[in-house]
Amino acid sequence: MMQKTCVKNAEQQIAWRNPLDIQATLDMKHENAEIPVTRDTLEAWQLARLQQVCTYAQKNSIFYAEKLRELSDVSFASGEAFSHLPRTTADDIREAPLNFLCTSQDDIARVVTLTTSGSTGKPKRLFFTQDELDETKAFYDHGMRCLAHSGDTVLALLPAPKPDSVGALLVDGLTALGASPVLHQNPDDVATSLALFKQHAPDCVVGTAAHVLALTKLWQKNSNRVSPVKSVLLCWDASSPAVRKYIESTWNCRVYTHWGMTETSLGGAVSCPFGRGMHLRETNIYVEITDPDTGLLVPDGERGEIVVTTLTRTGMPLIRYRTGDESHIITEQCPCGSPLRRLSPEIHRISLPINAPDWFKQITPNAIDELLLSVPSFLAQQAQLRVAPNILEVTVDMSTNSPQQLSSINELLCDLVSPLQTAPDILCLPGKNNGNISIGFAKRKISVK
Ligand SMILES: [Zn+2]
Repeated sequence: MMQKTCVKNAEQQIAWRNPLDIQATLDMKHENAEIPVTRDTLEAWQLARLQQVCTYAQKNSIFYAEKLRELSDVSFASGEAFSHLPRTTADDIREAPLNFLCTSQDDIARVVTLTTSGSTGKPKRLFFTQDELDETKAFYDHGMRCLAHSGDTVLALLPAPKPDSVGALLVDGLTALGASPVLHQNPDDVATSLALFKQHAPDCVVGTAAHVLALTKLWQKNSNRVSPVKSVLLCWDASSPAVRKYIESTWNCRVYTHWGMTETSLGGAVSCPFGRGMHLRETNIYVEITDPDTGLLVPDGERGEIVVTTLTRTGMPLIRYRTGDESHIITEQCPCGSPLRRLSPEIHRISLPINAPDWFKQITPNAIDELLLSVPSFLAQQAQLRVAPNILEVTVDMSTNSPQQLSSINELLCDLVSPLQTAPDILCLPGKNNGNISIGFAKRKISVK
């Protein structure tokens, strides 16, 4: 009960302790869990860990034995010294995933195969031991304590096809903190999300920005009740400030964000009640913001590519892995007092599709969602650019079949692209109008054909 009060009045309750700090203390085996870790002790611990990870990977992984062949001194005096090490790419993993393994395959509890596109055309395979899956559950337990509490009902719009899938790990984490999870594995079926919402009156909703936005829109159209939701966690994919604000004002709740990827064991950073960036899971991953061309560190506050080194993984450690995501470190101190650095939630993919025009970075799925927030029937959209002829084709899922609103969406999109050089024509197509959308769980992007 006390904790709820703290979260509700977070700006005034400086004494609130970030649950991620408690996890960090446990991870560092800090001799006294009551004494908070400091930035200095955390950084010293990380540097020592980086040394251990490099030594371990050189010795046990075929890939790093070769990649770090010329590295004889692994004692890093600073993060700057570490940033001169070569980077690992997604294509390195696609090419020979078994070369990354540092343990016997018998020690691997879960293999994740990602079929996202890469230059080699091969899927990306990542291996996790049971200890690593347990670490993720612990992160979900402590991370969710930033926004949910014992006794809360949490509607989770996430997949769980296997026992250690993201949805299943989150359910375990929520159960550990005493919350009651309600898992909906097919949130493209927004009508069912709404039925579960009405049945369970969740205190908290977790899902992608697109799925939660669609649910918010459908709820708004079908309910004149006060929302039970106190907090929302947007995860899996990037979100925009306007969409976050829309969800906050519609449900009168606080919106939190999470960043992570399979390569970071499905967890990476989560915002605290102060909402000023996402605190990194710094006792499991070491995050560098880097110049994408050189791989060297950029100063805190400047945008660059997120490069990740795993600090605790024994099955398939990754050293300076290029995520392809761009963000920046927030420099001012968080009022929660946590020593864990914060990543800006403004995350973008760095690489653009071949043939993409210059304006392609501005016209993102989030930018289109943002534009269409005010259209009452709008639920979701998928866009693709046809280069010849130059057409931006947008398929719009709506809560009801409304040719009038589709035509106003067409006009909004024309206004959006008209100032662009080489502006495309707009072709707006009706999608589903039966309480379903076509988003799925792939990270959203505008494809170029
Ligand atoms: Zn904070």
